[in-house]
Amino acid sequence: MSKILVDDQIIDRKNLIDIEDRGYQFGDGVYEVIGVYEGRPFMMDEHLERLQRSAKEVQLKLPYSMVELRNLLNQLVKANHLDEGIIYLQVTRGAASRWHEFPGEDVQPKTIAYTRAEERMTEVEDQGGHAVLTEDIRWLRCDIKTLNLLPNVLAKQEAKKNGAVEAILHRGETVTEASASNVFIVKNGELFTHPANNHILNGITRQKVLELCRKNNLPVHEQTFTVKDLLAADEVFVTATKSDIIPILEVDGKQIGSGKPGNITAKILQEFRSLIYELVNA
Ligand code: PMP
Repeated sequence: MSKILVDDQIIDRKNLIDIEDRGYQFGDGVYEVIGVYEGRPFMMDEHLERLQRSAKEVQLKLPYSMVELRNLLNQLVKANHLDEGIIYLQVTRGAASRWHEFPGEDVQPKTIAYTRAEERMTEVEDQGGHAVLTEDIRWLRCDIKTLNLLPNVLAKQEAKKNGAVEAILHRGETVTEASASNVFIVKNGELFTHPANNHILNGITRQKVLELCRKNNLPVHEQTFTVKDLLAADEVFVTATKSDIIPILEVDGKQIGSGKPGNITAKILQEFRSLIYELVNA
């Protein structure tokens, strides 16, 4: 039986969430998904720092320090003998009688984590996929990684219905991000991605890609672009934990560039894989 983390205990997986857990009833909590490659969590500290920030923004006091969480998650990965996959970590405001306002100080936030084995997505990363466009109907604090994901769920379902790998979101004319990833476009050798403000989640993969671009002297701009720019781009790709970098070859049935993964996307993917290689061979 697989193991899960519940508060600071690693136990056999079983159903033990209180029906009045505020995560369950209000989506009142924050979470992270951390990639694991050959048994090694990738950029765990960056994910835990983002969790800390998300918690602060919703005034949720994390029950464990970064060091404690890192140790607990490392233990969980070992307990499950996880080789390739993800760690899912969430902290909710705890279980209390259902009233919208925060519960009293006596109610402890609830921490849970589990792991899921997942193959690497090298095929779609190499070959690319299609995307659909959907209106971004989310709230105005998309920078916080909260459990409220219904608009993302609906967008991803729209992608799936159309045989696409992602749904690219736009607020009016402006492309923000995708249902579960960030969006980059390439035009005339330069890259563009939406600035890290309240309209997007500042992806850990996005931040790494920005760093890789700068290291490789690829001009990159954290600047908004429109749906028209997206459709006229030479290359488009999306970035997220574990799926890393996926080239987008078609948006709403319209071909992007040559209709094949572009050179700059391929270069970034190669650089990203080198980082993972360094991690697993460290
Ligand atoms: N945007 C959204 C809305 C997401 O849910 C995610 C995570 N799946 C991302 C971007 C990518 O973030 P990261 O690279 O940290 O996984």
